[in-house]
Amino acid sequence: MPARPQAPTLSPAGTRVLQQLVMTGDASRTALATDTGLTPGAITRAVRPLLEAGLLDETGGRASTEGALGRPATVVTVRTEAHLAIGIKVTADQLFGVLCDLRCRVLDELTVPVGDHGPEALVAQVADLVERLRAGRPQVGSVGLAVSGDIDAASGHVAYSPFLGWHDVPLGQEVARRTGLTTTVENDVRALLTGERWYGVGRGLSSLALVTVGTGIGCALLVNGQVVHGSFGVAGEVGHVLVDPEGPLCHCGNRGCVEAVAGSASILERMAQAGFPGLGIGDVAELARSGQPDAVRVLADAGSAVGTGIATIANLLGAQHIVITGEAIGSSPEPADDERDYDVMDPHVRAAFEQRAFGSAARSAIELRPLRFVDWARGAAACAVEDFVTHYGRS
Ligand SMILES: [Zn+2]
Repeated sequence: MPARPQAPTLSPAGTRVLQQLVMTGDASRTALATDTGLTPGAITRAVRPLLEAGLLDETGGRASTEGALGRPATVVTVRTEAHLAIGIKVTADQLFGVLCDLRCRVLDELTVPVGDHGPEALVAQVADLVERLRAGRPQVGSVGLAVSGDIDAASGHVAYSPFLGWHDVPLGQEVARRTGLTTTVENDVRALLTGERWYGVGRGLSSLALVTVGTGIGCALLVNGQVVHGSFGVAGEVGHVLVDPEGPLCHCGNRGCVEAVAGSASILERMAQAGFPGLGIGDVAELARSGQPDAVRVLADAGSAVGTGIATIANLLGAQHIVITGEAIGSSPEPADDERDYDVMDPHVRAAFEQRAFGSAARSAIELRPLRFVDWARGAAACAVEDFVTHYGRS
């Protein structure tokens, strides 16, 4: 197999151009100059080493609408398969893996059950999944892992993961050692946000919040174009915003947190107390649609709690866009029947948000949408691509 070209030394402008092209796929040199704020000369100097390294292609011939003389515009395109990344969402039961190109398009995916989720056994299973996804593809250069819990992304350490029962596990280091690939580890909700920032609604936004409502309530924040990690690894804990001082007890020891009202376990517990044990979230949504008063009330309370929580985010941070997703707001992890499940919670989320958001904070765009497991793994791959793009050619 031919040796991969040595990465050139990139200037900050080179990194900026590469980032922009990974986000957009292609652009004319004129558009690149506009989008990055660089001069045409700086664009030429930034693009040249990336063309030589095989990360970009240049095509001419498209009639320019930009020049008065109608000169053909040269379009610079990212060679999406020049570098491939594997993303894996790690849970205690399963590993969800995807192989992605530089635009985070999924080329292959593989899900494997987890037997033993002790650190050593899990690292071996992750390494095995990586080997299966990279077989025959020498362009695979990095791995991103998304793990629920308190993650030190800088070191790749899992500081604490309740679902895995881990404390201080150097996961990134171990997977890198086993696979020989650059490995990033990120909190799973921040990984989802990273995917949105590079390839989704977050492109071009300076602030974005993403809230996942499941057994727990997760939240990741983009502020001034940066993903917020918090000084002590904790930030955006919207699940523990107080919505009702007399409300149900939360596992954090307080009463009436958003999570204690709107987490899926709480919804099911309240339905069990009302005489409907053993339901799933989809069953509760179905009952609410048929007008069953307990289901209507429980989901209305949950929606209002989520709306109050996101209004707090909007009031504090002025987020431009807030994405709310996850199984507890009634979506199914199966893509086939996801859309309609949002009808039950949606009006309650929006009503509480509008009531609680202060002044112009209410202008945040609120979007409720389904969350599929492949999205988590894609977010992990986006972190790996982000790491590659940010460090490529930098010493
Ligand atoms: Zn709490």
